[in-house]
Amino acid sequence: MVEMRQPIAVKAAISLVMEHVEAMKDEKVSLADSYGRILAEDIVSEHAIPPFNRAPYDGFAIRAEDSIAASESNRITFNVVDHIGAGNVTTKVIKAGEAVRIMTGAAMPEGTDAVVMLEQARLSSLADTFTIRKPFLPLENVSLKGEDAKAGTALLKKGEQIHPGTIALLATLGYATVSVACKPRVGIIATGSELLDVAEELTAGKIRNSNGPMIEAQLARLRIPYCSYGKMNDDFKACLNIVKQACMETDCVITTGGVSVGDFDYLPAIYEKLGAKVLFNKVAMRPGSVTTVAILNGKLLFGLSGNPSACYTGFELFVRPALLRMMGSSKPYLRYTKAILQEDFAKPNPFTRFVRSIYQYAGEKATITPAGFNKSNAVTSIAFGNALMVLPGGTRGFSKGDSVDVLVLGTEDGDGEWII
Ligand code: AMP
Ligand code: MG
Repeated sequence: MVEMRQPIAVKAAISLVMEHVEAMKDEKVSLADSYGRILAEDIVSEHAIPPFNRAPYDGFAIRAEDSIAASESNRITFNVVDHIGAGNVTTKVIKAGEAVRIMTGAAMPEGTDAVVMLEQARLSSLADTFTIRKPFLPLENVSLKGEDAKAGTALLKKGEQIHPGTIALLATLGYATVSVACKPRVGIIATGSELLDVAEELTAGKIRNSNGPMIEAQLARLRIPYCSYGKMNDDFKACLNIVKQACMETDCVITTGGVSVGDFDYLPAIYEKLGAKVLFNKVAMRPGSVTTVAILNGKLLFGLSGNPSACYTGFELFVRPALLRMMGSSKPYLRYTKAILQEDFAKPNPFTRFVRSIYQYAGEKATITPAGFNKSNAVTSIAFGNALMVLPGGTRGFSKGDSVDVLVLGTEDGDGEWII
């Protein structure tokens, strides 16, 4: 008798997975190695940014009060008593009628509180004096200490992903090393006696293993290391042993195929034999309703469908957020948005449907178009698509012009919540 499985809603399935995530430890890495990692500490500025008042332009630092009477008909003359570039400071204390020639980024000399831009000054031929024709206000053309951030400001939060802008801020604050979450190592096992390696010639009844390389790339996109255990024939003993080995050697195991109710689908029996607790074995989604997630000794075992589109979708919906959450990410979910459907989608949706699609944002208009052949066994539409269009379960077809839910693939920035 074929086992009857009870489907659970996608949202419930995702939250079950997320509840079972165990956090990775932290490690210190050099700033140079921190790109793409997830911060494991809050960052508070220890000093003001910038740390001193400075010139934002090339020009002359003056005392604003000396310029009050300046006008077109009453140009005021200043004597240049020193000349500093960025990184240098003057030892002179500026007196009435004096100025320091100063370059962008240099600290304002003591006593000065305004900068006359080079373009605003008329220089004498020897350049040791100049005149101005307008008054300057105190702090005019001055970049103020702490204008970017005051000392003691909470600037970055644990759980944020480090991008080049974050690196600039960390460097500014002197973080030569940064605390980040350790990366999980993921095991990948493709199952199916029909599978050939990529370099092999096609023979009767065989296809090439595309899920293995695809998952490797999905992990690479997250900068997560993996160990590939290759492809396995549908043999209970052999599959059991390799899953066991992967469980010992990695933090999380992904299998593809063999998770359904067919005669050679051994994953359910393997979970049982290992004593893994199955969180769910049927999700109310298309493709990928057979997606199964189990937990063994605190490690997540993802049993993804062998069908390429289902496998791809299962990874993005379940594996991706779980791995990001293991690293403490505050935005583990795919980025959610809305877009206008560009063609009729007539099929009804008994289960929530994830359609591999092409998302485009042009001008003010976001559009979405199904990426071609869209069955769960499709491989072309995963190659062509850059998003998943989400059509909720229990709906009829959708029409051109409808506003639909979209999950954007391949972006570094995600969402903090699962929205749909
Ligand atoms: P399964 O989930 O094992 O029932 O497989 C479902 C479908 O996906 C079958 O048509 C398999 O041949 C195909 N399939 C399974 N594993 C892979 C794989 N690694 N690469 C490409 N197709 C696969
Ligand atoms: Mg199979």
